[in-house]
Amino acid sequence: MSLTDIGYVKRLMAAHGITFQKKFGQNFLINPTVPERIASECGASPEDAILEIGPGIGTMTQYLCEMYEKVVAVEIDRALIPVLAETLADYDNVTVLEGDIMKTDLPALFAEHFAGKNVTVCANLPYYITTPILMLLLESGVPLDNITVMIQKEVADRLAAAPGSADYGAVTASVQYYAAVEKLFNVSAGNFLPAPKVDSAVVRLRLYKDKPVKPESEEMLFRVIRAAFGQRRKTLLNALSAGMGDFTKNELSAAITDAGFDVGIRGERLSTADFAHLSDVLFCMKNEK
Ligand code: SAM
Repeated sequence: MSLTDIGYVKRLMAAHGITFQKKFGQNFLINPTVPERIASECGASPEDAILEIGPGIGTMTQYLCEMYEKVVAVEIDRALIPVLAETLADYDNVTVLEGDIMKTDLPALFAEHFAGKNVTVCANLPYYITTPILMLLLESGVPLDNITVMIQKEVADRLAAAPGSADYGAVTASVQYYAAVEKLFNVSAGNFLPAPKVDSAVVRLRLYKDKPVKPESEEMLFRVIRAAFGQRRKTLLNALSAGMGDFTKNELSAAITDAGFDVGIRGERLSTADFAHLSDVLFCMKNEK
């Protein structure tokens, strides 16, 4: 029976005595073309391994198992584990782990399940925790080829935004440090049970093997990005001087000019490479103090 058939999903859940858990962001896909398309466009090759976050009742997991050699799925909701045992019973290439992805030891998981494999993350992420999950995956340093995820449309637009556009922000500049971001397609709320209040979109992050932007200090780069967007309507100079108390306003002004920017520029005009350039000037200045 199809896991996108509403009647079947309701009967399956009733048989297991479970209901949709809002606190876990449970909106399950009910249009089979969507999970099939996400799985096939995730960027992995058939011999690759997939890490799925939040398999739910296994709707997209089934497609992933059909298309790729190995699937490991991490699900926080203990009540769904017996459901997944039933819906994925036909597949011997899947491992379901009960746990919170935010508390999972990713290097250990990779060592145990993904040794020697190329790995892509493919998931319909819970909205309440999208950005923390993405930053965890990117900052963990585990070797990933792609992160292909369905997320709230507004967040997808932010991740894929170009400098100077209204959607461009700290998350954009940070994520684009690690990966090239491509928005694949939009998915309307009617494709989920229950229907969320917002529309969704699928984005693919292709992680750089060799990052094109190489700051002297990653820590300084992220401090500058955070500070630049901390005070959105201010100039870069005023935002930095509010958020980087260890530099005087004169020093920050000199650094912005030294990095080749107009002192009246706004932070949202700087690309990740521009931020790295500015952070290198500040890093140098700090070391010379
Ligand atoms: N993959 C299914 C689908 O597409 O129909 C379900 C997607 S639903 C939007 C999000 C899933 O993530 C739910 O199954 C939820 O229980 C799970 N989840 C929520 N927070 C999680 C976390 N911190 N770690 C692992 N799974 C989580």
